[in-house]
Amino acid sequence: MHNDIEKILISEQEIKNKCKEIGAQLTAEYNGKFPLAIGVLKGAMPFMSDVLRYTETHLEMDFMDVSSYGGEMRSSGEVKIVKDLNTKVEGRDLLIIEDIIDSGLTLNYLVDLFKYRKANSIKIVTLLDKPEGRTVDIKADVVGFKVPNEFVVGYGLDYQEKYRNLPYVGVLKPKIYGGEE
Ligand code: 5GP
Ligand code: MG
Ligand code: MG
Repeated sequence: MHNDIEKILISEQEIKNKCKEIGAQLTAEYNGKFPLAIGVLKGAMPFMSDVLRYTETHLEMDFMDVSSYGGEMRSSGEVKIVKDLNTKVEGRDLLIIEDIIDSGLTLNYLVDLFKYRKANSIKIVTLLDKPEGRTVDIKADVVGFKVPNEFVVGYGLDYQEKYRNLPYVGVLKPKIYGGEE
């Protein structure tokens, strides 16, 4: 499997250090509060697990699964809820945890939804940010790493459901997705 990777962009150690740093930041920001951490499935799973391990406040966890129509390498903007939260968000301090923001359409949809459901506050934490991909004006409050406009996999991010279990973030060899070698 690792043979399919052309290059590593962010190493396992860099990710771990960043999770500790963000965890410390969230600990300070949510001190004395009881935020609801919302993981966006499936991509945010490893990051959520690691970053919240270092967040030393009480918090509640829930998950949302959304899918966007369109190709597997880009979202279309039409977002469908595949699995909704089990928790009421009204009056809650929300911490949305994402793997990557590309166009921003997925998060834009979620933020609108949670505002409509009367969240008290909404903060977005994303492992990766691809600012060049943005088509709607949305910014994360906390960004782990900026990445160039390339398709990345690993540490939660998939290509055809594979590679989510890589411990680092990398780029696939072009032949894997049918490009030239
Ligand atoms: P957005 O709605 O911001 O365009 O994209 C959000 C979703 O698109 C991400 O949660 C992810 O599932 C997918 N996505 C965007 N860029 C990449 C990428 O470089 N690699 C992978 N594996 N998924 C991506
Ligand atoms: Mg995602
Ligand atoms: Mg995907």
